[in-house]
Amino acid sequence: MRAQEIIRAKRDGATLDDTQIDAFVHGLVSRRWSEGQVAALAMAICLRGMTRAETTCLTRAMAASGLRLDWSREHWPGPLLDKHSTGGVGDKVSLVLAPILAACGAVVPMVSGRGLGHTGGTLDKLAAVPGYTATPNRATLLRTLHDAGCAIVGASARIAPADRRLYAIRDATGTVESVPLITASILAKKLAAGVQALLIDVKLGNGAFCTGLNEAQMLAQSLVAVARESELPARALITDMNAVLGTSAGNALEVRESVDFLSGRAREPRLLEVTLASAGQLLHLGGLAPSPADGERRARVALDSGAAAERFARMVAGLGGPRDMLQRGAALLPRAPLQRPLPSPRDGVVAAMDTRAIGLAVVALGGGRARAGDTIDLRVGLSDVRGVGARVARGEPLAVVHAASDDSAEQALRDVAAAIRIADRAAPLPAVHAVVDA
Ligand code: URA
Repeated sequence: MRAQEIIRAKRDGATLDDTQIDAFVHGLVSRRWSEGQVAALAMAICLRGMTRAETTCLTRAMAASGLRLDWSREHWPGPLLDKHSTGGVGDKVSLVLAPILAACGAVVPMVSGRGLGHTGGTLDKLAAVPGYTATPNRATLLRTLHDAGCAIVGASARIAPADRRLYAIRDATGTVESVPLITASILAKKLAAGVQALLIDVKLGNGAFCTGLNEAQMLAQSLVAVARESELPARALITDMNAVLGTSAGNALEVRESVDFLSGRAREPRLLEVTLASAGQLLHLGGLAPSPADGERRARVALDSGAAAERFARMVAGLGGPRDMLQRGAALLPRAPLQRPLPSPRDGVVAAMDTRAIGLAVVALGGGRARAGDTIDLRVGLSDVRGVGARVARGEPLAVVHAASDDSAEQALRDVAAAIRIADRAAPLPAVHAVVDA
């Protein structure tokens, strides 16, 4: 089947059938479709959309384009659960959620990704832990999963290779923002990873890919419906990304905050709310709690008893990291040579943040990639970020910039100052906007 005919059909608004979609996915993996042809079809899909049936077919074909992880030869003590976020700034929920779920009886083989654009990625954060390997061999992965109940690792290049190529082309051709393409991209990887239930955290706000509630709802509904049609029980939460989540943004800094969160030294309320809501939904979906509310209560006990922290420590040690991460987290993580507080320009309340601009400031410090393949500085970023609603006095720090050089510190101080608005009062910012089920 000629690529040109499939592109023309979608360009003119036709619904593609399974054979045409399979031909596209085969062409992607075999590279029989040129980059130009892939980009043309991606653009046609962006403009014309896809029906639910087309999206489901594309998702399944991309999931089947490579290796499918098979966990069935092992005996597992609980359901295999996972969560995926559409991406945000300071989003360290995966780091704390995986060990909470494990402490509640689930098994969490969490396949995570690297940062994208202004958003951070869980794998980049874990790269700040000395010795941690996100690409363990199968024996180490299985041993860690049996011992800790969770393992946060990277996707092998053999998982959903069709998505790997399509994503790189979309990234370079302005075709990322499409509900069917995002749905197929996320779910193909999760279906291939072989988990039994999935929670999708759709971020909404000025630091997310979805900036409007309608758009976030459409994406969440598409993800949940296509996952279920592909026999993967799933639910979505729409959570807020109009402010940095937690108090830090930047790789080592976020690991430090996660260790403090798990060990109970500090738990920023919005991060706690999103984490507990996610845990509640997943424990219910996986049959480990009779309701999401009961799941939240169990998650809270796992946190407060130290059981989740203990699972995190075991995961880190099992994957090659230090054994005393919980006790010595801050001392073990790399630290930027410069720390500069950003003073508040006036007395008042933190009223709003341009969260995307803050994410980009972290990228400019070296904490993210301008281009795929760039190396990143794991030490840099922001800590002690004051949340929306916090009262501040003139001169009091709004955040602390961690930088590798004077110039980059000065630039970040300017960028972050321009991104935070201080006013006399602030409207409250919800942490969780909606649950999307059926
Ligand atoms: N994350 C993905 O994995 N794919 C997308 O298309 C967007 C976000």
